[in-house]
Order: sequence, then C-alpha cells, then structure tokens
Amino acid sequence: MIPLRDGTTIPQLGFGTYLVEPSETTATVAAALEIGYRHIDTAQMYENEAEVGDAVAASGLPRAELYLTSKLSNAAHRPDDVRRTFDETLAKLKVDYLDLFLMHWPLPTRYDGDFVSTWKAMTDLLADGRLRSVGVSNFEPAHLDRIIDETGVVPVVNQIEVHPYFPNTAAREASLAHGIKVEAWGPLGQGAVLRDETIAEIGRAHGKSVPQVTLRWHIQRGDVIFPKSTHPDRMRENFALFDFTLSTAEMAAIDALDRGESGRVGAHPDTFDWIPT
Ligand code: NAD
Repeated sequence: MIPLRDGTTIPQLGFGTYLVEPSETTATVAAALEIGYRHIDTAQMYENEAEVGDAVAASGLPRAELYLTSKLSNAAHRPDDVRRTFDETLAKLKVDYLDLFLMHWPLPTRYDGDFVSTWKAMTDLLADGRLRSVGVSNFEPAHLDRIIDETGVVPVVNQIEVHPYFPNTAAREASLAHGIKVEAWGPLGQGAVLRDETIAEIGRAHGKSVPQVTLRWHIQRGDVIFPKSTHPDRMRENFALFDFTLSTAEMAAIDALDRGESGRVGAHPDTFDWIPT
C-alpha cells in the first residue's frame, strides 16, 4: 500500500483489464482475485465494467479490501455526462463507491479544448462519498498545469505510458513534482520488452523472468502498476515481485534502455482525439 496526496492509500501492484473481452472478464478477474490481486483497473471505454463487477460480487471479498479504478469515457467529457456516466459505472461495478476515477485522456483538440470543466465536474463527485479519489490519465505537463492553475485541485495520480523503452520522463517528473503519483500503463510496453536481452540477463542472475524484472523495476521506482494477462500462470508470475531486489547497477542498466519518443507504443496525448460512438 502506498500513500496518495489526499490521505488515502493504493495497492502498488494491481491488475489491468484493457482488451480483456467482456466474455472473458468475469473469469479473468475472478482468477486475479483468487491469486491475491486486490486492485483492479478498468475503464468505461473497456466495456467490461459490468463483468468486473460480477467477479467482485462473486468473490465475497469485503468492499474495503478492494481498490477499484475506472476512467471517464472520451465520449463523456461534458459535465452532465461526467455525472451520468459515473452513476452508470457504480451501477455496472455493483458498488456504492469507487476508489479512484480518472479522466482517461485530456483530448485537447476536442470539446473546444476544454478539459477544465470536465475536471471540475469530476472533482465535484468527491462531495457525497461515492468517490474516494480523483485523478487523470495521459496528461502532459502543460495539461496538469492548466487544471491545477484553473481549479486548485491536484489529481492524486497521473496514469501514463511508462516502461523501459519509453520512461516518459517529462510527464513522469512533472507529475511527481506536483506530488502526483505515477501509474505506469503498459508496464511491459504492451509486450514490447518481453524479448529484451539486457533484462533477460538480469533475470538470470535472480532466477526471475523478463516480466518479473521489468515489473520489479517499476516497483523500485515507486510507480503503481497493473499488468494485464488472461493466463492465471502469468498472473501468478506477475504477482511474485516481492522476494528479490534489483541493485543500483541493474536499475541503471534498465534505465539505459530508454528509446525516447520512438519507444512509445501508444498514442500521443496532445493529438489523440478518438471518441467512441
Ligand atoms: P502490459 O504492458 O501490461 O502488457 C500486456 C501484454 O503483455 C499482454 O499481451 C499480455 O499477454 C502480456 N503479458 C503480461 N504478463 C506476461 C507474462 N508474465 N509473460 C508473458 N507475457 C505477458 O499492457 P497493458 O495491458 O496495455 O497495460 C496494463 C494496464 O494498463 C491495462 O490493462 C489497463 O488497465 C491500463 N492501460 C491504461 C491506458 C490508459 O490510456 N490509461 C492505456 C493502456 C493500458
């Protein structure tokens, strides 16, 4: 558990559900909960919130032991849609509060460039106890400055693409400078780092796999991660990160794999403008 700036805590290791088919989601999340994951990351745009909710309900776990994150759809940036879709998210997840709600993308070229009224509407959700923490995702330094300057409310996290090939240093350091925790999405580069020979060699010294070494690198940097897999054996592998430590030299060797902008596997937040219909 690591602390966030609003006084809450978040499990540093969670489970991601991007591109988990709705038909597979309930069984996949049930397996993750069985293995021990207690932090689940979903989103309105993943279209699997109801199935995540089914797995949570069937688990019988006390609500207080779970940490649930969802994210605002790119189609729902208008304040009325923020409120309406947040209600839908709670109903689909079958819970009476959400731990963390994120603005999925800033969409600076959409909605007349106004992501500030969206942020304001999201922060207003904190008032009645149905939302514990509010944050953002895919925010560049200038996007962070703008919502903080114009509303005074600092997000607790910024969920951004971060992995050895694309450490996203400018956005990561701007977040940390504001006291915003970084959540690293695509912690394995969505698979891009899995054949890396430098990481494999470090793994051999510890009897650990490439995914385990990569995820451990994130943990030691202090970022929150939620690797995704639909295979229980890989979920177990990705959960076994706390019985070894990378040395300073090993951390530096992984830091050196930075490919700059060419290492990015996802979209650039300044230009990404996709809105689901
Ligand atoms: P990831 O880096 O977690 O990689 C997932 C890929 O790696 C999958 O193809 C999986 O099969 C493979 N993999 C995972 N563990 C493995 C193992 N032990 N051995 C071999 N292969 C393994 O990428 P991701 O799923 O895109 O990112 C993690 C989570 O971050 C997502 O599920 C989602 O919750 C979140 N996310 C958020 C955004 C955003 O815009 N905010 C974007 C992408 C992802």
